[in-house]
Amino acid sequence: MKILFYSMRADEVAPFNEWTKNHPDVQVDQTDKLFTEETAKLAAGYDGVVLFQQETYSDAAINILNDLGVKNLSFRNVGVDNINLELVESNGMKLTNVPVYSPNAIAEHASFLMGRLLRRVPEYDKKIARKDLRWAPEIGREIRNQTIGIIGTGHIGQVLIKIMQGYGAKVVCYDIFRNKELEEAGMYVDSLDELYKVSDIITLHVPAVKDNVHMINKDSIAKMKDGVIIINVSRGTLVNTDDLLAGLDNKKIGGAGLDVYEDEVGIFNETWEGKEFPDARLNDLMSRDNVIVTPHIAFYTDEAVHNMVTVSLDSNVKLIQGENPNTLVK
Ligand code: NAD
Repeated sequence: MKILFYSMRADEVAPFNEWTKNHPDVQVDQTDKLFTEETAKLAAGYDGVVLFQQETYSDAAINILNDLGVKNLSFRNVGVDNINLELVESNGMKLTNVPVYSPNAIAEHASFLMGRLLRRVPEYDKKIARKDLRWAPEIGREIRNQTIGIIGTGHIGQVLIKIMQGYGAKVVCYDIFRNKELEEAGMYVDSLDELYKVSDIITLHVPAVKDNVHMINKDSIAKMKDGVIIINVSRGTLVNTDDLLAGLDNKKIGGAGLDVYEDEVGIFNETWEGKEFPDARLNDLMSRDNVIVTPHIAFYTDEAVHNMVTVSLDSNVKLIQGENPNTLVK
């Protein structure tokens, strides 16, 4: 059994080596190259490929794989919005993803963004860098005195609820599909409008399906409390960036913690040191004292990367063996 592992990163080497050591019957080769029309032919002679990239998977590259008879594809991440699923299906290919790799990684990151904004860490960082160690005027706020509005109570939202309750915060939730236990515990409000009205901090944990694109926009922002903090560790397209910037400008929005950004592909996970920064809106956000931008790193922990590597390889083996693993994308 032969698998080709594309776009290998240095931080994936340890879990990759551990997995291959434990599976001596499987030959896994790796390349640091992305999966493109040029590199698809490298998969000749393999039974399956393991993939992870933010860039779109081109139809031509998928067809080359199909022509080579390589029908088993496994993503190391959850999102399947950058591949043509109809083409995968019509070619008779199978695709798996890693639906849950560590909800804690993302929920913790959301909580850190909240904490850093409430304690005004970006402002202190600047003061400390210039050796100004005075307290005032950056007085902070305590999490237990905030109402946290959690939109989306799936894997990540549920972990975040527990973290926030640990701090003693009041938590209100909204989801289009309610979780029974949370419902019984009286955690849900009936509408997004109600959540917007009562929340000091609003945090997004929903997928970027078509209906959710720009769910945070000038109309929803207008319904929020003055000085609201918005946290987005889900997908950049959930937030209309122009409306967010306008809300920050007119002080309706008191702060934002953003691990994702609408136009992040090609900008995040690159260095712009000594080069012209390519995105004026992102530059504007990054320069504000009440905004924290992180480059889509909420998932980026040793635990999550380990799970992404090992679950994708396990799934690929199952596909090659003709099984339908529970990670199969339908
Ligand atoms: P999940 O599928 O377990 O939960 C999503 C929840 O959102 C579901 O309960 C669904 O019913 C709900 N939902 C969908 N649309 C909604 C709407 N309009 N209003 C209210 N609720 C709605 O997903 P998850 O594992 O908790 O992940 C949530 C999101 O986090 C993912 O979609 C992904 O975009 C993002 N994510 C980000 C990172 C990162 O590194 N920043 C990593 C992993 C996932």
